[in-house]
Amino acid sequence: MIPESFEYLAPKTLPEAISYLQQYGDDAKILSGGHSLIPMMKLRLTALSHIVDINGIPGLEYIEESDGFLKIGGLTREVALEDSALIRDKYPILLDTAKMIADPQVRNIATIGGNLAHGDPANDHPATMISLDARIVATGPNGTRTIGISDFFISLFETALAPDEILTEIRIPIPPAGSGGAYFKLERKVGDFATAGVAAQVVMNGDRCTSARIGLTNAGDVPINASGAAYSLVNHSPDEAMISAAAKMAADESEPTEDLRGPVDYKQAMVKELTKRALRRAIERAKGGQ
Ligand SMILES: Cc1cc2nc3c(=O)[nH]c(=O)nc-3n(C[C@H](O)[C@H](O)[C@H](O)COP(=O)(O)OP(=O)(O)OC[C@H]3O[C@@H](n4cnc5c(N)ncnc54)[C@H](O)[C@@H]3O)c2cc1C
Repeated sequence: MIPESFEYLAPKTLPEAISYLQQYGDDAKILSGGHSLIPMMKLRLTALSHIVDINGIPGLEYIEESDGFLKIGGLTREVALEDSALIRDKYPILLDTAKMIADPQVRNIATIGGNLAHGDPANDHPATMISLDARIVATGPNGTRTIGISDFFISLFETALAPDEILTEIRIPIPPAGSGGAYFKLERKVGDFATAGVAAQVVMNGDRCTSARIGLTNAGDVPINASGAAYSLVNHSPDEAMISAAAKMAADESEPTEDLRGPVDYKQAMVKELTKRALRRAIERAKGGQ
């Protein structure tokens, strides 16, 4: 289908973009990669009077470590994560995640900021950002504010971003020594959204787990923080039985709904299995394995 007509705006600075958002309110939206927004407009699930394309604003695409954080610019493309030596060497969970998103054509254009700002629980980055305890930097008329990832996803397609705010940066605390993470996703075919996905991040001191976080993809109306499952591992030396028990808890914390990808009990069984795999790989990586 063809979208309803709209006015296209191409600001060159953040203040200019924000002033458009203030001016047009709920009738305007940011365009980043356009790979979620344009399909929704073409399906007429979203009708807007104005599109604010931020691709011409310099300085929003970067991946760098500073001040104790991995900082990723909001407009950074998925392909940049795939190509980054820093991500490959120090943040393999982010490489796992980016590589599972859609296909290379989509990943060349789609942005990490858009993936989070869209508020779609089927997107892959939200669960990973939950496991990494990320912070979202939002820039609006009153400057910037930082939102913890646990407070970011409000409901289906709704985030804590105000209509006149732009997601400008994602900050991930640099993991301490002994950290490891992994993302596993089940998809019906390559390029599909997740039937279920699990991100796990752990810190190990020898065989003892000192910290764990688990995020779930497409397992509820919002990306889910499976905190009970994660806490069950802390201050223990996770063996197969403990990993299995944590995986069962993650499945119990999930709230999937039946759809074309399967019934609820199947999806919860997949959450359980993927949690086991993600935890095993995360622990292995934390201990120095790949
Ligand atoms: C065929 C296909 C398969 C896909 N498969 C997957 C998949 O397997 N996994 C997955 O995670 N995703 C998948 N996607 C979604 C894709 O990754 C999206 O592009 C991504 O989720 C949104 O990023 P974007 O840059 O395209 O955002 P856009 O489409 O430009 O924007 C999406 C929404 O976020 C808002 N927005 C965008 N950027 C900002 C910002 N900086 N600040 C504030 N608001 C902003 C927009 O206004 C809009 O409401 C798929 C898409 C397609 C077309």
